[in-house]
Amino acid sequence: MKIIDILNQEKPTISFEVFPPKSETAFDSVKLATEEIAKLRPAFMSVTYGAGGGTSPYTLDIAKNIKSIYGVPTLAHLTCVSSTKDTVKQKIDEIKAAGIENVMAFRGDIPDTLKDSDRLNWDYKYAIDLIYELKSSNNNFCIGAACYPEIHPESATQKDDIKRLKEKVDAGVDFLTTQMFFDNNLLYNFLYKIREAGITVPVIPGIMPITNANQVERAIKLSGSFMPQRFKSIVDKFGSTPLAMKQAGIAYATDQIIDLYANGITNVHVYSMNKPDVAQKIQSNLSDIINL
Ligand code: FAD
Repeated sequence: MKIIDILNQEKPTISFEVFPPKSETAFDSVKLATEEIAKLRPAFMSVTYGAGGGTSPYTLDIAKNIKSIYGVPTLAHLTCVSSTKDTVKQKIDEIKAAGIENVMAFRGDIPDTLKDSDRLNWDYKYAIDLIYELKSSNNNFCIGAACYPEIHPESATQKDDIKRLKEKVDAGVDFLTTQMFFDNNLLYNFLYKIREAGITVPVIPGIMPITNANQVERAIKLSGSFMPQRFKSIVDKFGSTPLAMKQAGIAYATDQIIDLYANGITNVHVYSMNKPDVAQKIQSNLSDIINL
């Protein structure tokens, strides 16, 4: 099933993101965790691809498994930076052969090891190049792409970022998923600006439940997200008590999600980080709100 058809149903749904194992030794435990999350029957599940510009051999294995055993629609992530045209085309063929209809098209982060001069030789410089590739040769994928309520860190201004986002969407994006954020007003403000700029595709807010204090620094470093004082107080108070921090982090994420539904958002994507207990708890907190 295509994600855009799920979004067009306009009823509150929840979806989860998982990540593939980095090595074969971790494959079985990751497979198990993602299966536990699939058993919750979310609207769909996304499976990330590499990091720091790297590739991922296991994204498709995990996505195929979830789809075939649990019938949960899957969204395979794909990045293009520092990949050759041949590698990307092969990956696209593999996604198609696996019967996966939804692809999230990213540029990917620029690997630290790459020099600026190497950029000249890249086959793909931005996500838009991958979107053109996915649209070519009649693939008929439902295509998602990233957006950044607090601006992509490489953009000089939000105006520039939204201009590039509009070009990316016009290239053939069906829906957008946001970078994590911890203050919903940032999202509402962003939505207002992109709608004004003529971007009309559905936007799925991405919510990251912070369930331990160590995650905070990493999440901010990765996303550059603003941490509201209300959230900082939670970390200050409960950060050194793991169970309390987990409970408070899940409650904070739940609160954010309920506010999003209350303000007209239909699907919310939860960065569940391969943690079935966290996914389950959030889902059950919303059991009378979302359509299961
Ligand atoms: P782009 O859309 O290409 O934008 C990157 C920057 O370039 C922006 O500043 C943009 O404004 C600018 N830009 C765009 N086009 C042009 C142009 N033509 N000329 C000049 N400037 C331009 N990374 C992974 O490696 N694997 C994943 O699975 C993954 N999943 C993610 C999921 C979500 C929901 C999000 C939000 C991010 C994810 N990322 C993932 C991280 C993502 O790869 C990085 O944020 C990356 O730095 C940018 O990717 P992009 O697709 O947004 O890039």
